[in-house]
Amino acid sequence: MTVTSEITTAVAALRRQVCDLHAQLTKYQLVTWTAGNVSARVPGHDLLVIKPSGVDYDALTADDIVVCDLHGNLVDGALAPSSDTAAHAYVYRHMPAVGGVVHTHSTYATAWAARGEPIPCVLTMIADEFGGDIPVGPFALIGDDSIGRGIVDTLRASRSPAVLMRSHGPFTIGRDARAAVKAAVMVEDVARTVHIGRQLGALDRLDGRDVTLLFDRYQNVYGQSSANVHGVQER
Ligand SMILES: [Zn+2]
Repeated sequence: MTVTSEITTAVAALRRQVCDLHAQLTKYQLVTWTAGNVSARVPGHDLLVIKPSGVDYDALTADDIVVCDLHGNLVDGALAPSSDTAAHAYVYRHMPAVGGVVHTHSTYATAWAARGEPIPCVLTMIADEFGGDIPVGPFALIGDDSIGRGIVDTLRASRSPAVLMRSHGPFTIGRDARAAVKAAVMVEDVARTVHIGRQLGALDRLDGRDVTLLFDRYQNVYGQSSANVHGVQER
């Protein structure tokens, strides 16, 4: 097999996977209209695959998924890449262990982003999945590297695979696209639960030592390894 055909095979498989994963965004009601996207790094190459701009989820096919370089330039595909491609590309350039990125405007997570408030770590599942509070990133306008830089700077200072970009919405990362989609589903789930919990009174954060114990156990036992996605050494 030539190098070129290896890339072709890998890209074809990722196009199918990323196309299929967009169905999870609608299944879990994380997106409205066409506002949300999944991307995947092409392992071993400075390439990513991502949803094209403005295509309905119901109509999306694997052939529609576009290939871009890690500066967001179109390499292969008939359609224009998602308008969020530059942000995804920035994350892949600066976080080498990240294999998947997801962005949505899911309702509850985006409500926390609108408030500019981190989701406090008040549940064991938040400790398990996010390793602490789910952080807020800076307000950033689309058009340059501001969003990507805000995502990377915030995630590097945290164990969380999710960041709530201020007045915008959640971006999530994973070792692959499926893990990033899982983080997008989970951040919406806990955003909703903590919102409802707080209607009934003040909530107490978990003790920091318990958070670390829960996070380490979950990441090691279940092999989620989001810590490694941040470039942290495995313990
Ligand atoms: Zn957005």
